[in-house]
Amino acid sequence: MPTVSTHSRQQTTRMPQQSIRFAFDNSYRRLPDHFHARIHPTPVTTPGLIKLNAALFEELGLDPAAADPDVATPLFAGNLLPNGGDPIAMAYAGHQFGNFVPQLGDGRAILLGEVLDRAGQRRDIQLKGSGQTPFSRSGDGRAALGPVLREYILAEAMHALGIPTTRALAAVTTGEPVYRETILPGAILTRVASSHIRVGTFQYFASRGDTEAVRHLADHVIARHYPQASGADSPYLALIEGVLERQAALIAAWMHVGFIHGVMNTDNMAISGETIDYGPCAFMDAYDPATVFSSIDRGGRYAYGNQPGIAQWNLARFAETLLPLIDDASDAAIQQATDLIRGFFGRYEEHWTAGMRRKLGLATAEPEDVDLIHGLLDAMKASGADFTLTFRRLCDAAADPAADSGVRDLFLDRQAYDAWAAQWRARLERDPQTPAERAEHMRDTNPAVIPRNHRVEQALNAAVEQSDFGPFEAILRVLERPYEDRPELAGYTEPPQEEERVLKTFCGT
Ligand code: AMP
Ligand code: MG
Repeated sequence: MPTVSTHSRQQTTRMPQQSIRFAFDNSYRRLPDHFHARIHPTPVTTPGLIKLNAALFEELGLDPAAADPDVATPLFAGNLLPNGGDPIAMAYAGHQFGNFVPQLGDGRAILLGEVLDRAGQRRDIQLKGSGQTPFSRSGDGRAALGPVLREYILAEAMHALGIPTTRALAAVTTGEPVYRETILPGAILTRVASSHIRVGTFQYFASRGDTEAVRHLADHVIARHYPQASGADSPYLALIEGVLERQAALIAAWMHVGFIHGVMNTDNMAISGETIDYGPCAFMDAYDPATVFSSIDRGGRYAYGNQPGIAQWNLARFAETLLPLIDDASDAAIQQATDLIRGFFGRYEEHWTAGMRRKLGLATAEPEDVDLIHGLLDAMKASGADFTLTFRRLCDAAADPAADSGVRDLFLDRQAYDAWAAQWRARLERDPQTPAERAEHMRDTNPAVIPRNHRVEQALNAAVEQSDFGPFEAILRVLERPYEDRPELAGYTEPPQEEERVLKTFCGT
């Protein structure tokens, strides 16, 4: 089993320490030494600030002096360390496309530290693309501009949609090239997460037979993310249940907006229940469960429709790491953990069905609703109907059947829509809301705008090819309030024209 020498690469040159102080409280740093490697970011030649997320900065309660571009630029480039930090790269393992890799770790990310935000919530502040670490393997520790902007846009869009996610605090250019298939401009993203602990973090220690470390990590996670589990008869089973519940809700939320993560490896599944690691992810246009965008997912393992099954698979890997802590891995422990994992689909279906009912404007529940939901999805698939537009236009149709034509136009087989709409209306008769109320609630759950892949790609291309960040800024503004119809949305709500279609997204690592 490969091991990491945790302190070998700590830089001896100190970076300038200005009087910026973050109120760090680094709980992960206090875990045993083999959980992480102490490492400083590698300074870059000519950093340039692309964007500072002022609202998030404020929410975190950071030193206001750090928002000054003259300070923020070196700070979020890793050229200036805030006082009170003790940066680390975290150790983790992971199943990548089903194959176990015993050592991954933060190869290009460095955790500056943890702060308590204004609401008292613990938040990690991490630089991504900030230079090599002991976990870099053959990688350069850097990130390219395009993927940094993609993560910024997608993470903030998910947040605005109300879906648990890591956040983007800042993006800077490094002034240095990165060498991928082509030479690209380098950039660094500052990511904020309630923690960066992953399923793969547990696997790292479990695969080494280090049960004490697994216990330490599990206790840390319970205290940090699942405090209610500590009072349970079996805290570690309660931890599995808690993680499973949040993943069931998260994946359902992804499915409700057509989000495809793209690389649901176990190292990219956060224990906190936040969406993490925006690589070759994208939102689906035309509804088809087989949709895949990622250039590295040739087998379609992480296709839209496979996401719930993959989540369950990942959770099974998570549960396995905890077995030695539960009842000494007796048959009873295995049985209990297995029962929980088997229960995933039940939990997922409950979240999914509840959300789909909201999407269709149903305030009440009838068993046959599931058939109604699938009836629409089947017709959408057969007709290649746009996922987001179908549901948004259904809001208008709920208010007034005359607006049916707007939805019908999205279907190749218009009669299929009409037949379905007749069933829907019959069902709405048995639902207590007025049409106006229903339409209003539906508009709060069916977004008018999502980060359409072709628009994201255009924003990335303008930045990478022309150093034009205007489209990046524009799409961020559009995605800030996705449930409101606003004039600014023009041009962002429509699916791509044939020539605009993006077939592949790249993680750019
Ligand atoms: P990802 O595909 O971004 O989830 O990364 C998978 C693993 O590869 C993680 O351990 C990363 O830290 C590592 N990695 C990705 N890109 C680089 C890079 N440019 N340099 C070093 N490590 C990297
Ligand atoms: Mg990752």
